Amino acid sequence: MVKVLDDRYDPRWAESWDAVGLVCGDPDASVTKVLFAIDPVADVVDEALAWGADLLVTHHPLFLRPVHGVPATSDKGRLVHRLITGGCGLLVAHTNADCATGGVSDALADALGLPPGKPIDPRPCDPMDKLVTFVPQVDAERVLDALAIAGAGAIGDYDRCAFTVEGTGTFRPLDGANPTIGQVGEVASVAETRLEMVMSRDRRDAVVAALRAAHPYETPAFDVIEVAGEVGPRGTGRVSVLDEAEPLSVFVQRVVKGLPATAGGIRVAGEPTRLVRKIAVCGGAGDSLLGSVRAIGADVYVTADLRHHPASEAREAAGGPALVDVAHWATEWPWLERAAEELEAGLTTGKARVQTRVSELVTDPWTLRV
Ligand SMILES: [Zn+2]
Repeated sequence: MVKVLDDRYDPRWAESWDAVGLVCGDPDASVTKVLFAIDPVADVVDEALAWGADLLVTHHPLFLRPVHGVPATSDKGRLVHRLITGGCGLLVAHTNADCATGGVSDALADALGLPPGKPIDPRPCDPMDKLVTFVPQVDAERVLDALAIAGAGAIGDYDRCAFTVEGTGTFRPLDGANPTIGQVGEVASVAETRLEMVMSRDRRDAVVAALRAAHPYETPAFDVIEVAGEVGPRGTGRVSVLDEAEPLSVFVQRVVKGLPATAGGIRVAGEPTRLVRKIAVCGGAGDSLLGSVRAIGADVYVTADLRHHPASEAREAAGGPALVDVAHWATEWPWLERAAEELEAGLTTGKARVQTRVSELVTDPWTLRV
């Protein structure tokens, strides 16, 4: 269960300040009921335990700062105790779910009926290396298989990807050598295959170890080349372009209809008649992306927690976007359904026994507008 979610929302994608992953619970425990919610607050824990959930998946961390203990006398410690005694684990997918493809901002854009978009702030792809080695032709397929098993040659939905070309390798074994082919002191020429495979950088050591183990030579020749980084599909926020521009007042209705209602309502900055076509969205607090949103020329920006000064400055800037400020909780809530679907789709065993549920409790802290 944890692995399926980690595959979709890899904890390594989380920001350095974040605290994601399993807060409590045993990854080996069997799980049949999974509740998804935004906030790990007492009402949500009540719901999880009343329903008999074995796992609660929340977007926001329970602990973002280090603690020395989790006594039941503290607010958060009590929640941990209740979850453990109730047999319910807690797993957090926060900024790793924000930046994921199919993550929080994709779900927000989808809830507003927007076409799929690109990240406002794209992240580089995972760092990649390329291994180039030279193998006697008769051993090339065997070595290629060993490298593939160690993780080389995985590209998208393909594995064992390699390029090979045949040529001649030459060397002279010196005193002390124990050559597989050739004699000490004599130049040898061998029909070799040049073999190239890419690999995720975190597989480098494993692949090089596999090469040394599988290669027939005492001292295999190889290069590991760091591949230049590319911008990837992951990143914060999304920007989508509508087929046709529409007035801001019409666009805002998408937000009203697409997102759950909260007591605080929706705040809009901009002329209602202004035509909007390039739409930027960011689930959760989106202040930090205002500069990027302006730079990409978005007509409107839907996010949460916009503060006075950044919002005012964005409005004053020539060509600055209209702003739609929604409750933080509401901008992230559409992701829960998507995450539940992803979990169910990713399960290979015991799928029929697993039930998922999305909490409909409004955990936005603002409860009254006067
Ligand atoms: Zn958030």
